[in-house]
Amino acid sequence: MIHLFRWPREDETLSSWLYWQSRLHGLSPQTYTAMSLPGLEIWTRDADRWLSDIAIQKIACCLGQSQATVKSMTLAGRYGEVLGEIRQYNSVHWIMPIGVYHRRRRLHGQQFCPECYLEGSVLKLSWRLAWNSFCEKHQCPLIDACPACDEPLTLFYTDPYHHNVCFNCGRYIASPGQKERHYDLCMAFSRRFSSAVRADAPDPGSLRTLMTLQLGQSQGRHLQSTWRSRIGAVPSATARGRWEYVRTAERRVLIPATEAALQTGLKRIVDDLIGHRITRECLRNHQVGQNLWLEKYVYPELDTKQRSPKSRSNYKAEMADPLREIQRRHTSASRRTRREARAHCIDIMLGIPRQ
Ligand SMILES: [Zn+2]
Ligand SMILES: [Zn+2]
Repeated sequence: MIHLFRWPREDETLSSWLYWQSRLHGLSPQTYTAMSLPGLEIWTRDADRWLSDIAIQKIACCLGQSQATVKSMTLAGRYGEVLGEIRQYNSVHWIMPIGVYHRRRRLHGQQFCPECYLEGSVLKLSWRLAWNSFCEKHQCPLIDACPACDEPLTLFYTDPYHHNVCFNCGRYIASPGQKERHYDLCMAFSRRFSSAVRADAPDPGSLRTLMTLQLGQSQGRHLQSTWRSRIGAVPSATARGRWEYVRTAERRVLIPATEAALQTGLKRIVDDLIGHRITRECLRNHQVGQNLWLEKYVYPELDTKQRSPKSRSNYKAEMADPLREIQRRHTSASRRTRREARAHCIDIMLGIPRQ
């Protein structure tokens, strides 16, 4: 086989580049990778997220690219500095999962701009990040599935010469063509993740805690309704759970609502949190990793104005949901065992050693 090469585009994903390589050779993605990268599994894993050094070396060697170029087509290579270390199985915040199931994709983590995609059939790594919801070039909303059948885009099954046809329903992927509201707020939010932001601006960890807070306990969901109503969006009862699993359309409301709140300044945010009875512990329930901005600027304010956060009754009230979950898991146990398990949990949270 005479090997043809196409240079990867800016921010292109590895799978998108391999799809283009197969197209250059007139082969299906499967045949192309089986012939040019024998023994290496690409399509049954999330290769755009992380690849081992051996796999990167093999792709670089077989397909005439430098290792750095191949690595920069994965999220680990390109966004590792902003997001922290990305390993094979760790869950990294802000990266949306695609739910690999054999060669299919079960989750809607790969967003795309329909206009960019129809122009060049290139998928970008930045579209996998949960802080992006608009295309900067076309100012149009990103979509995360075929508009007709809601199936996630799967390049493995996409016809090499008809990338604009959905592999599942066979209809043309058309651009919705609407320019949505809140574009400026969404772009302002995604700019918070650039390396040039001010030192006292919220860090990615704190921003994620604020987003997840709005999808969790009732106080957080009330805060979400308030923030949404300020930008004229209707409250939603459906968006719950982990931030990265929320669908694009829903995130496109949550992001501008939060950005509008952030732009009102620290004092107003603290007042909002207090007004919705959100305590430091409430926020800590959703906090993972470092939250420098919350620790430094928000928590001290909450502490001085809140009721004592260390009392047992406050813990019981704030931890009601997680505790009920623990109870549910112990339903087969006796009432006494459940009560003891719950008391033990509170002791752990308060740091009381067990007698
Ligand atoms: Zn675009
Ligand atoms: Zn479809």
